[in-house]
Amino acid sequence: MKSTKLVYMEDMHTLEGSAQVVEVGEQDGRKYVVLDQTILYAQGGGQPADHGLITSTHAGFAVTDVRFKDGLVYHYGNYVNGALAAGEGVSIAVDGERRQLHKRLHSGAHVLDMTVAEMGLPWVPGKGYHFPDGPYVEYAGFLQGVSTDELKAKLEERCNQIIALNLPTSIRFVSIDEMTKLCRFVPDNLPAGKPARVVLYGSFGVPCGGTHVARLAEVGRIIIRKIKEDKGVIKVGYTVDI
Ligand SMILES: [Zn+2]
Repeated sequence: MKSTKLVYMEDMHTLEGSAQVVEVGEQDGRKYVVLDQTILYAQGGGQPADHGLITSTHAGFAVTDVRFKDGLVYHYGNYVNGALAAGEGVSIAVDGERRQLHKRLHSGAHVLDMTVAEMGLPWVPGKGYHFPDGPYVEYAGFLQGVSTDELKAKLEERCNQIIALNLPTSIRFVSIDEMTKLCRFVPDNLPAGKPARVVLYGSFGVPCGGTHVARLAEVGRIIIRKIKEDKGVIKVGYTVDI
């Protein structure tokens, strides 16, 4: 089967689109729809899936989870009326409020990475969790007796100064070679089957397939909730003003 085109990789702001149904079915009791292309974000990179609605002239399918598997995007959810069939043309609508919060949290984490780099902290970015229920970013590194209260205040202050610069988000599709030139860190487990994309704020690039705000002011205020280190893993809990 042909891979699902990930429209959201190129355009992170469109909330209404169209597509053609490729396959419908059920997996482990969950109904799913596969489309030839999608604007709904598939969960990954620490960012939750979009919610939304897929509609044809006679059916509606409420999407409550989206997953990427072997080149295909599976939209999971339930029919609100009728049923979809392969070959049909459909409209897609994204839950914009949910998407916007995810964008703000994800872009906020890039600002945090930028701040860490700018402050010269020798921390290596690891896992990110940008869900609204307690977002955090992990780094490999040690705090070595640093006052976390002071660090928290400094990080938060600098993050919000960077947000105030209101830099635009720019994206580039690149080769892995080029990626290593644009980004300080490139993980060796880049997701297979997805385009190699770099998200940039100024010259600060991060390999990333998530959705982002158009300009940093949209993030609002970043709050650093806590910083702790355990055996060489520094966890920085953050959030945005909601
Ligand atoms: Zn990212």
